[in-house]
Amino acid sequence: MTINEKMEAAADDLIERFGVGHLVERKELLSLLQDTYQVKESSAMPSDYCYNRVNNGISLTKPTLFEYIGPGRYRCLGAGYPYNGPIYHRPSGAAGDIVIGFCKDGVRAIADGPRKADVSRAETSKGRDPSPRLRYRVLERDRFTCRACGASPAKDSGVSLHIDHIVPWSKGGKTTLDNLQTLCTKCNLGKGDLA
Ligand SMILES: [Zn+2]
Repeated sequence: MTINEKMEAAADDLIERFGVGHLVERKELLSLLQDTYQVKESSAMPSDYCYNRVNNGISLTKPTLFEYIGPGRYRCLGAGYPYNGPIYHRPSGAAGDIVIGFCKDGVRAIADGPRKADVSRAETSKGRDPSPRLRYRVLERDRFTCRACGASPAKDSGVSLHIDHIVPWSKGGKTTLDNLQTLCTKCNLGKGDLA
């Protein structure tokens, strides 16, 4: 068994015993891995296996099994859970977490681009297109819902969200947090027709 398979098996064990959504402490998880699957504590990183969290330098190839609740605390959901919510990340040196993506029905989508940039610099982009970081600042502020009609991919998987300039770029509108809003495809196209 690979470490990924062992982690997945441990999550299954927990679900079998306590049901989906069981809150598990890192310590409890590590001792289960050690006792049942002979995984050394130093090689088990539960935070690499979260639907809603991505660590530095971690690719998205590991199975998603847990919801990160806080330091050392996880909710055990198991593989294939239709998780919906923002994905958090703490860039190295940053004081807090930022949102870098969204998990839709258990599938994670992460913004491209550097993750080390100063969070405070993310308020503005020079060109028309917002940086991935700014996009996610806008999405996060708008709670991943269309500001016009309230549609959300978390509730309806057919909805996709776009970042829209409130004052259009062509009319001098800036690419700043204040001048950007989240719109669904329908509302975004409707706006384009009127302009
Ligand atoms: Zn809409």
